[in-house]
Amino acid sequence: MTAAATLRPFLQILHERCIRCGACIAVCLPESLVLRRMELRFHSQTCTKCVECFRICPAAALAPASGRYYKGVK
Ligand code: SF4
Ligand code: SF4
Repeated sequence: MTAAATLRPFLQILHERCIRCGACIAVCLPESLVLRRMELRFHSQTCTKCVECFRICPAAALAPASGRYYKGVK
């Protein structure tokens, strides 16, 4: 197993909660979040870990792997 394979992605998308509003895409400067075929995708290679997407999401649909900036799921 390679080191890369053991790394957890910085961001996890809770697809069942996402309402596809696009707010996270609008605040993501490196365009690490994109909507494709009506599903949000995350490109970890370009993510700067600014956490703006977590802050803006109205549905608590984004969860950092660390849990540090996790918004409570109601
Ligand atoms: S943490 Fe920042 S750079 Fe990474 S996906 Fe979210 S908004 Fe984009
Ligand atoms: S801000 Fe939240 S609800 Fe809106 S598209 Fe992004 S993850 Fe989905």
